[in-house]
Amino acid sequence: MTNEKFHYEVTTVTKFIQIYCDDKHQDREKNTENISIDYNDTDNVVSVNFHLCKECSDMAKHAYYRLSQCPHIEKPRCHKCPHPCYELAMWKKMAKMMKYSGMKLGLNKIKRLFFG
Ligand SMILES: [Zn+2]
Repeated sequence: MTNEKFHYEVTTVTKFIQIYCDDKHQDREKNTENISIDYNDTDNVVSVNFHLCKECSDMAKHAYYRLSQCPHIEKPRCHKCPHPCYELAMWKKMAKMMKYSGMKLGLNKIKRLFFG
């Protein structure tokens, strides 16, 4: 995918996980983190900030890692991808978060991105 697309994917997934964590994990201890992700060892570095619980932080980092390794020039819709990045358990959890936040924001395009 292009650098712009990578940037978009990273910031979108961050926003969605943040919304989910804000709503669902209010009682958990959270940390603010600042992370820089390299895309395919290019000079394209994306920086993100988030304030998440441990579980969601791990989820976000996993998502960044997978996105940075995505072999597709044009990222296909995830559920149609011939090389799914997420292990099934991870994928289900991620799908739940994306769906929740997507509905909350009313952003149908995000749902399309992940669910076709
Ligand atoms: Zn959380």
